[in-house]
Amino acid sequence: MTQTFDEPSPSPALLLLGERRDPLSERGVDCPGDLPAASDPDLVARARAAKEALGDRVFILGHHYQRDEVIQFADVTGDSFKLARDAAGRPDAEFIVFCGVHFMAESADILTSDAQAVVLPDMAAGCSMADMANINQVDDAWAQLEEAGFASRTVPVTYMNSTAAIKAFCGEHGGVVCTSSNAEVAVRWAFDQVGGVESDGKVFFFPDQHLGRNTAVLQLGLDLDHCIVWDPRKPLGGNTPEAIESARMILWKGHCSVHGRFRKENVDAIREKVPGINVLVHPECAHDVVTAADYVGSTEYIITTLEAAEPGSSWVIGTELNLVRRLANAHPDKDVHFLEDTVCFCSTMNRIDLPHLVWALESLLAGEVPNRITVDTETQRLAKIALDRMLALPALHPAKD
Ligand code: SF4
Repeated sequence: MTQTFDEPSPSPALLLLGERRDPLSERGVDCPGDLPAASDPDLVARARAAKEALGDRVFILGHHYQRDEVIQFADVTGDSFKLARDAAGRPDAEFIVFCGVHFMAESADILTSDAQAVVLPDMAAGCSMADMANINQVDDAWAQLEEAGFASRTVPVTYMNSTAAIKAFCGEHGGVVCTSSNAEVAVRWAFDQVGGVESDGKVFFFPDQHLGRNTAVLQLGLDLDHCIVWDPRKPLGGNTPEAIESARMILWKGHCSVHGRFRKENVDAIREKVPGINVLVHPECAHDVVTAADYVGSTEYIITTLEAAEPGSSWVIGTELNLVRRLANAHPDKDVHFLEDTVCFCSTMNRIDLPHLVWALESLLAGEVPNRITVDTETQRLAKIALDRMLALPALHPAKD
């Protein structure tokens, strides 16, 4: 069977970036060097030559959501947690070039030695979700919970997709980091620190409200009523003390701007169009999308599920478009669809392109370390406490359907 994947047209949002319309959200748009022209026909050859000349001194990590033009040069591919661990497994590499986004490069810096330099080819490659929880807001929220008498029975849990400062906050306050693969076991662990899921203890989950809600309701069996949202712009996050008292999960008001675009109507529409289709989505999607799906799991889970699928079966996937397109191309024997009918690239992930990669590699070859990501020592120490707690959890829970 010929695969039926259709490429959506480019997103206008991509075109807006870099035009200085919102300088605060365009960290590092100015590249501190001579960026090769995107039209340079020698870009692939230049990247290959620079990588070969650097040899074992450089280790290139490529997140699953990266462009094809970049991913072809990755030594390993994976999700954010796997890549950070892969980086830690290469202590001999002088340079770690992280083709992903800012918080991932921070995690790699935390898990690698000070002698290794972690390089982000474009400093504008941030994550809108991670940026929705800044440390000042979180400190303020915690102070309010302390004053209202809740903090002593609340454990903070942060998704890997958060800044190093938020991970450090969790390390300092008895909390833990989680991934989309192990959120269930991490949240259970957190509840166990305050008397268990049935107690009056609480988990404060950052920064993705959808992953927190989906984990609480679908995996821990809590009610939707047990989940409240904390809006950092409002006193007590927009909640009454009574609502906080009866809540089990306090969900930071953050979301992924990519996965947040999928709607239950998209699921209904594709089911009507392709009867019998399997719906496979990421847990960063909204709760009604996840409950309407057949299979839910991390990026790695999505990849392995499609790999294991029967030839001739039909699938619609709700995650970032670069990955879905690659999966469709890799499985021409399966009928692969994208869940949204408009584009769903992660625009910040797409900041890393071949010109930036060439520039980073050639700079390293010339003896300069461009765009080095460093996390200060104290933040590293506290963040590592939260990361180590995650690594000590009983076992990474397999992604679930
Ligand atoms: S896909 Fe979502 S969570 Fe991942 S980097 Fe992009 S905005 Fe952040």
